[in-house]
Amino acid sequence: MDHRMELAFAYLEKNEHGMMELLKNLVSIEGPSSDREAIERLAAHLDTYCDALGMERQIHHFEKAGPTFAAWTTPQTTSPEKKPILLLGHMDTVHPVGKFGDDPFIVKGDRVYGPGVYDMKGGDVIALFVLRALNAVGYEDRQIKLVLTGDEEVAHAFSYGEAGKLVEQYASGCEAAFNLESGGANGEVTVRRQGGAIIRIKVTGKAAHAGKDPQKGASAILQAARMITEIEIRSKFGYLTFNCGRISGGSGANVIPDSCEFSIGLRYAANAQYEEAIAFLRDLCEHVTVPGTSCTMEQNGYYPAMEMIDGAGDLLSLYQKSCRLLGEPIPQGIQQGGCSDSAFATRIGIPALCSLGIQGGEAHSVDEYAIPSSLLVQCKKLVATILSM
Ligand SMILES: [Zn+2]
Repeated sequence: MDHRMELAFAYLEKNEHGMMELLKNLVSIEGPSSDREAIERLAAHLDTYCDALGMERQIHHFEKAGPTFAAWTTPQTTSPEKKPILLLGHMDTVHPVGKFGDDPFIVKGDRVYGPGVYDMKGGDVIALFVLRALNAVGYEDRQIKLVLTGDEEVAHAFSYGEAGKLVEQYASGCEAAFNLESGGANGEVTVRRQGGAIIRIKVTGKAAHAGKDPQKGASAILQAARMITEIEIRSKFGYLTFNCGRISGGSGANVIPDSCEFSIGLRYAANAQYEEAIAFLRDLCEHVTVPGTSCTMEQNGYYPAMEMIDGAGDLLSLYQKSCRLLGEPIPQGIQQGGCSDSAFATRIGIPALCSLGIQGGEAHSVDEYAIPSSLLVQCKKLVATILSM
């Protein structure tokens, strides 16, 4: 093990208590995606934190979404061919404020419970301590960027996709991205994820009295129903699926309905299938079969698929080597159904590893927990990987 790595590990061991303190602080600033101000408070807290590390920072604010926080080191001696490294995460959680009671951070045995403790305040702590350890050993090999989004749990719908674009901007030109999303029980590393998007379709028809002159009307609900059956039969599990999960329309049984709106959850294994799905839906909207109706569609949240791209295998090997060095189990590269910001990096050709965060379970439920003893080891794995790049 090289000297720098030994020093970084010693620094992390000495500061293990600080990791737990920071976790408590971040969990206590509850920040559901819908609470813009709460996430602003989190970003301000992290801004102070990264300022103390001598990092440049920018908080990108949005009207309806929590901000995206970005910070980066400014090494003086880095050679230009050494491309930057990106650390990724998110600040928002799915839990409404107060759901876990007045004191939302509860330690019970070797577990800690709280809103977002696993998904992914624990991962945010790891990202910050990786930065601190590298800072402590005077790391200047590459620039390190940190990007934490504020509306990840709603597929960036609240920032109208802008947060995803920011991830892409910061990822551009990087050597690799590491996402500190909630970690697997056995340290598994996510190398592939499905993509997902929410499409909202609005059908407009013409209202008329259902008894007196139904022929004067054009039923938006009938048009929507025809479309939904066409859409759902196109689903092929594991490849491309459509779920019409929400619908509303009409005003009463005696009125031909002049409006109907439905939302479709799309899932796709590769980005080509997303394009295919959008083209199909657009075509369907342009060719209504109920005369007198018309359709519009809009996107309401979007994640690309995280594909296994060139360089991802090498990155995984490097990470596995770090695990071996630490005497930890060698993690497998796995595929997951859920989406993450890693996909914005892989979409533009930047290899990424995901799920490098704290270990735990029951994400998105009131039983959400994390295993704080995994903070130290997950930090070490990533520090060792970055030092050997
Ligand atoms: Zn997450």
